[in-house]
Amino acid sequence: MPSYIPVKLRKLVAQRANHACEYCLLPQKASFFVFQIEHIISKKHGGASEVQNLAYSCPICNRNKGTDLGTLSGNPQVLTRFFHPRNDNWEAHFTLDSSGEIIPNSEIGKATIAGLDLNNVESVIDRKKLIQAAIMKKT
Ligand SMILES: [Zn+2]
Repeated sequence: MPSYIPVKLRKLVAQRANHACEYCLLPQKASFFVFQIEHIISKKHGGASEVQNLAYSCPICNRNKGTDLGTLSGNPQVLTRFFHPRNDNWEAHFTLDSSGEIIPNSEIGKATIAGLDLNNVESVIDRKKLIQAAIMKKT
């Protein structure tokens, strides 16, 4: 559900994220699409339009996440929450490989990669090219 987020708050969220998607690390400058301000906990689930509940997101991650908070993962499958950009450290849950692939370091990382389709073929190819061009850094 679209909601109004003041320009000043949008700028703050973008700057805090260093103008890169907080899920897949794609830099805004490497995308044709305007990045979005995403509710980490969606309004549907009671999330507020406050700075601590907002993340900078590329349109692909935002669309794939939707209002979801987690997904089923593991064996046996259990409900696992997604990576939370305000509460979690990216490197604790993921590693960006030189191939452009995002490798999970935790069940939360695994669930987020699956739920947001972080390793879709086009994104992996784009990240690999951006790493080779030194626009993105492997972690
Ligand atoms: Zn993204």
